[in-house]
Amino acid sequence: MKVVDLVVIGAGLSGCSLLARLHQLGVQGSMAVVEAGRGPGGRTATRRRRDDQTWRLDHGAPGFNVRAPGNSGVEAILAPLRASGTLKREWGLFKGLDHNGRLVEVPEEKLLEGEWLRGHPTMASVCEGLLEQASSRLKRLYGCRIRRLKKTSSGWELSDEQGAVVLMAKQLVLSGTLLAHPRSLSMLAWPDIPLREAVPIGDDPRLDAALDVLENSSASIRWNLMLEIKGLGDQKLPRQIWLTPKAKERWQVERLVFQEQPGSVLGVVVHGLDDGSTITPDRQPGLMAKQEERIRLLLPDLIRQIPGLSGIPGDDLKPLSLGMMRWGAAQPMDHPLPEDLQWCPASGIGFCGDWIEGPGFGRAEGALLSSMALAEQLAASHSMSKPVI
Ligand SMILES: Cc1cc2nc3c(=O)[nH]c(=O)nc-3n(C[C@H](O)[C@H](O)[C@H](O)COP(=O)(O)OP(=O)(O)OC[C@H]3O[C@@H](n4cnc5c(N)ncnc54)[C@H](O)[C@@H]3O)c2cc1C
Repeated sequence: MKVVDLVVIGAGLSGCSLLARLHQLGVQGSMAVVEAGRGPGGRTATRRRRDDQTWRLDHGAPGFNVRAPGNSGVEAILAPLRASGTLKREWGLFKGLDHNGRLVEVPEEKLLEGEWLRGHPTMASVCEGLLEQASSRLKRLYGCRIRRLKKTSSGWELSDEQGAVVLMAKQLVLSGTLLAHPRSLSMLAWPDIPLREAVPIGDDPRLDAALDVLENSSASIRWNLMLEIKGLGDQKLPRQIWLTPKAKERWQVERLVFQEQPGSVLGVVVHGLDDGSTITPDRQPGLMAKQEERIRLLLPDLIRQIPGLSGIPGDDLKPLSLGMMRWGAAQPMDHPLPEDLQWCPASGIGFCGDWIEGPGFGRAEGALLSSMALAEQLAASHSMSKPVI
């Protein structure tokens, strides 16, 4: 198997923006991206339906805000997306919803400050557009979840869940925490933390420090219910309805996201908050069903006073459930990884994602900023070839 210079695990915003930026910086080594999902997007992915080719639903982040503009790297990778119309200023309306189900002003919220951007036609278009900026020789592997990492004399060996070696690389970037965070022990019933298993304690003090941070941090979970509503006519709905703090407390829901589909059909995502139950492979189906039932039962209360939806669940407008999506966010809620631990040269491993310290921690902006910082460090490292200018 050919050993590539760099493999990025994860084709979410951070992995894709890292690859785009490395190309812009002229880093020329051979590269690959491997992603567990069916395509690029990660938590900014878009759900499609086999039975309806026109259906598109942004079932994760429906957009993102930029609170700390001015990062030259971020601006440089977003510029082509803005120019092509793939990334636009949010054009939909935002509203708030209080604990009595009344539409009110949008509550104050960190996720809403600054410039709001949205992928066009869908959120997945953003990551797709970023990968178009990466090297045309980029090797892409989708639908493959890496389960094991092994450090060999020629670099990293990556194996899938069946134990097959799928890639070998001199350097490795983890854009999610799945292979490094202890949540996989219960959530996936893995007996070990793959990265810890691959590099024994003491071999690389920087990596030890990074893994220590993750070990002491918890990860956040969300339960999103996806719905289809037919027969709306010309009724225009806001793009997002954010619950006020009191309403969140009452319903354990963060917001409602609406996405028009062709033919007076509406896609709705109810962003449900987590109750802290431990997720294991055995318990997951039951928890999923419980969350779906919970959100379905409170839906009439939530939408009772929203113009255009107030008839639901009457006879004409019946929301059809398209199922739940559990987002096991890679992002540790409390302890960001310090930026100076993002690159561990002794092991040839780097980290990017919204779990890295910085002004965008926990948000899409953090994913972008972390990748710009890592791209600079990788470009400066001597192990990857750069063109002679
Ligand atoms: C429901 C929801 C709503 C959100 N709303 C907002 C918002 O309004 N504003 C905002 O700024 N942010 C929001 N976010 C957060 C935002 O989506 C994230 O900050 C951003 O998308 C993170 O990008 P990332 O690349 O760091 O991580 P991810 O998108 O999680 O990408 C990591 C990728 O790595 C892949 N991966 C991980 N491990 C492996 C493995 N072992 N093998 C193969 N592939 C692997 C995963 O499948 C994933 O695609 C929201 C997130 C969710 C879930």
